[in-house]
Amino acid sequence: MDFSTTKYTEEQEAFRVVVREWMEENAPLELSVPEDGRALDTDTQQLVRKFRRKLGAKGWIAPSWPRHLGGAGLSPSMEVIIQEEFRRMKLPAIGDNRRHINTILVWGTEEQKRRWVIPALRGELLTWQNFGEPGAGADIAGINTRAKAHGDDYLINGTKAMITGRFDPDFLLTLAVTDPDRPRHYNLGVFMVDARSPGVTIGGPTLLVGSERNIYLDNVLVPGDCLIGGLYQGWEICQTILQQERGEVSFRITESGTIDSIQEYLRKERGS
Ligand SMILES: Cc1cc2nc3c(=O)[nH]c(=O)nc-3n(C[C@H](O)[C@H](O)[C@H](O)COP(=O)(O)OP(=O)(O)OC[C@H]3O[C@@H](n4cnc5c(N)ncnc54)[C@H](O)[C@@H]3O)c2cc1C
Repeated sequence: MDFSTTKYTEEQEAFRVVVREWMEENAPLELSVPEDGRALDTDTQQLVRKFRRKLGAKGWIAPSWPRHLGGAGLSPSMEVIIQEEFRRMKLPAIGDNRRHINTILVWGTEEQKRRWVIPALRGELLTWQNFGEPGAGADIAGINTRAKAHGDDYLINGTKAMITGRFDPDFLLTLAVTDPDRPRHYNLGVFMVDARSPGVTIGGPTLLVGSERNIYLDNVLVPGDCLIGGLYQGWEICQTILQQERGEVSFRITESGTIDSIQEYLRKERGS
């Protein structure tokens, strides 16, 4: 009996052939991706970044998004085919969680869209979602990271935990308390923080199940025009992001697979 749930049309299968040929020609095949969640080495990161730019040039970082935003204008089923072909090639995740892009489209100024949306979809930028903290995960409104006004700019201090990423990020979409005296949920702001700013340190545990990191923000100076939305709109902006996370037709360029990597690790290390 055939239990398969997916049947593709001839046109879709023809598209798959095109995608497969392109991947075989362009994807970096000799990547060194440790099975645990360690950060990728510099050479590997460079190879993947180069590949991201090729993908971005084709609009395949967001294949079903409109072309004017940097997508390829394809149907969702074509997007799924691209994703399946990524999986087949066993490529590592290409680093960007992408949810910040929709969020900036909703809440950002035109200038912020120009700075962060188009380059992200061209494969030029990597951004991490920098929300969770050691004492505030499920209860994200309970964060302690603080953004204080400093002239027209902000100084951010705090520690973030369990932030996903194996690449050196370019930006950290950071949630911070902007006024501790305001009521909960009305006291938060969201900032695009340049990850190479003085005071940003990325460290933390190496986990078998993933690539989560701690991020330490020590008096990080963030220009005023990197605030997304209003100074107290962070909670609403979080909802946009988390809605994407839970509800989008999600195209996440695949990882070698958490389950696969755990099995591989156990086979090698434990002989089981
Ligand atoms: C693989 C992975 C990747 C992640 N990547 C990112 C990332 O890229 N960026 C980012 O910002 N964060 C990231 N996180 C953090 C993630 O957002 C938090 O882990 C998540 O919000 C849960 O928080 P916590 O782990 O602190 O658990 P806790 O908040 O400590 O919750 C533990 C348990 O207690 C329950 N609980 C908590 N509070 C209450 C309450 N008030 N009432 C009833 N039950 C409660 C929870 O439901 C849960 O079952 C990642 C986490 C994981 C595991």
